[in-house]
Amino acid sequence: MDNPLIELERSALVRVAAAASIDDLEAVRVEALGRKGALAQVSKNFGKMSPEERAATGKLLNEVKQKLEQALEGRKAEFESAALRARLDSEWVDLTLPAPGTRAGSLHPVTQLQMEIEDLFTSLGFAVLDGPEVETEYNNFDALNIPPDHPARDMQDTFWVEGGYLLRTHTSAVQVRGIGRLKPPLRMIAPGRVFRNESVDASHEHTFYQLEGMMVDREVSVANLTYFMTTLLTAIFHREVTVRLRPGFFPFVEPGFELDIQCLICGGKGCPVCKQSGWVELLPCGLVNPHVLQMGGIDPEEWNGFAFGLGLTRLAMMRYGIDDIRWLQSGDLRFLNQFGGAAL
Ligand SMILES: [Zn+2]
Repeated sequence: MDNPLIELERSALVRVAAAASIDDLEAVRVEALGRKGALAQVSKNFGKMSPEERAATGKLLNEVKQKLEQALEGRKAEFESAALRARLDSEWVDLTLPAPGTRAGSLHPVTQLQMEIEDLFTSLGFAVLDGPEVETEYNNFDALNIPPDHPARDMQDTFWVEGGYLLRTHTSAVQVRGIGRLKPPLRMIAPGRVFRNESVDASHEHTFYQLEGMMVDREVSVANLTYFMTTLLTAIFHREVTVRLRPGFFPFVEPGFELDIQCLICGGKGCPVCKQSGWVELLPCGLVNPHVLQMGGIDPEEWNGFAFGLGLTRLAMMRYGIDDIRWLQSGDLRFLNQFGGAAL
């Protein structure tokens, strides 16, 4: 029969080889090499042995112990490198792949248009003014010749804020601020967001964009107005557009006109945007009412001027062939990504 130590070594090595985890290895180590393990039990019997027997057993005991320790270490290293390999495999990154890239944003079509018009008017000597979206009732209505009982107030129903403030219904309010601050001769435009308490449909929104313009000088006439409007529309549409001038009434101009543009979406045949008429109201304009100048502290005997209000939102729809105004405020990237031309 083999020495029990040899037998113990053999069975321990089989278990080490068969171990499925580091925990299994630890169990084998404790049973064989631990303080109460099999080898420790053998050394307890040294006292009962003859010196020769003790020397031989002690030597064998050390050999077995060393072999088992080596086997345990070797197997443990295998487990560790397998774990490392698995981790590297799962976390592997292919550095040769192209980077996902940053998704560059782009300017909203209305913003793009606004910036183009600002450039155009700046080149014609106009200043670009800004004003608050929450306005006083005075700047939005009274100073523009729209007293409290005026029907224009009903047409421009808006959202009222506490303390007599309101969300401005037009950028004309900025003109009032401009007249009060700038001295004639003056040329200014005021682009911005405006609000109406409207029922929303394909051509009406509660929030949209306008661009207001005004020129005050000596002997300004309808001819000056027509020149600037023609220059503007040619630049915006990069082509001949058909326009018509109708008499229009706006409290702050006299005479007032309604400049219509032939619908660029349907070519004049009729569609939802032009309400089947073939024409789109684009531009109220006219010569500034002397009373408005006077309220701004400008002498109407010496100075006069023209003013116009441009529906920036409507203009963007015409230019890009957008048939529903609601797209513009939808925040829908499928829509907005089509205007990626001008990156931020
Ligand atoms: Zn149309």
